[in-house]
Amino acid sequence: MIIGAHLSIAKGMPKALEHASAIDAGAFQFFTRNPRGGRARKIPSQEIEIFKQERQKHKVRYTLGHMPYTVNLATNRADVYEFAKDTLLEDLERFDQADINHLVVHPGSHLGDGIEAGIERIVEALTYVFNRYQGKTHLLLETMSGHGTEIGSNIDELEKILAGTGWPDELGIGLDSCHLFAAGYNVASKAGLDSLAAEIEQKIGWQRVGMMHLNDSKEGLGSGIDRHAKIGEGKIGREGIKAIINHQAFRDLPFVLETPVDDFLEYGSEIRLVKELRQN
Ligand SMILES: [Zn+2]
Repeated sequence: MIIGAHLSIAKGMPKALEHASAIDAGAFQFFTRNPRGGRARKIPSQEIEIFKQERQKHKVRYTLGHMPYTVNLATNRADVYEFAKDTLLEDLERFDQADINHLVVHPGSHLGDGIEAGIERIVEALTYVFNRYQGKTHLLLETMSGHGTEIGSNIDELEKILAGTGWPDELGIGLDSCHLFAAGYNVASKAGLDSLAAEIEQKIGWQRVGMMHLNDSKEGLGSGIDRHAKIGEGKIGREGIKAIINHQAFRDLPFVLETPVDDFLEYGSEIRLVKELRQN
């Protein structure tokens, strides 16, 4: 199985590979730029070259860039909207050069204008991006918990965005077990996973599902609150996590932990736990 965690690239992308190896991660995610700010650290082309070479030596099979939270593709503020479109295009191009598998973005928040208006703006922004972008790194829209005016807390909304954008090959979805659970999908049970998988297959197509953020949830099913818990320590629980990672439809996805840790080394024991829960 491919399981990894969110790591920092502040000390360089090759360093993140070393950190991934230290916790026996087969995947890692990083923020493409400061998560709450706007400016990107300029990644020198030499660093990218080293990263590509080093990646062969480490057992990292999957890499994922996470767009900053300040990117809101559904905003009604013109300046924020322009920033979101430009940042998304720029980051896709930057990380395509580093052979990153996917970038993931939160679809956006409509800020009170309604789901339909928000989806329209997201579609327009993605159309802008995909009219210009030609790389190999694919973009994933993340499933959200439905907090506030967030779009993307159900499969129907993601389907509408993909359909509006014309189903480009470079666009798919990324799952988050905590967000799905908070949004009311019971991923802690086999029956809940079966029906979610069937819905995704029918409305999105399984080939567009890129990965899953594997997080437990501090809040209950359908709470609408996005609070990640460590694996086995939340309301999804150890048995729920076991059901997810062994489910026929989900088991081959790359899994990325975004659980609350003080130090990345703590991910090492969670990765071990997940591997123990895995059945052949
Ligand atoms: Zn996210």
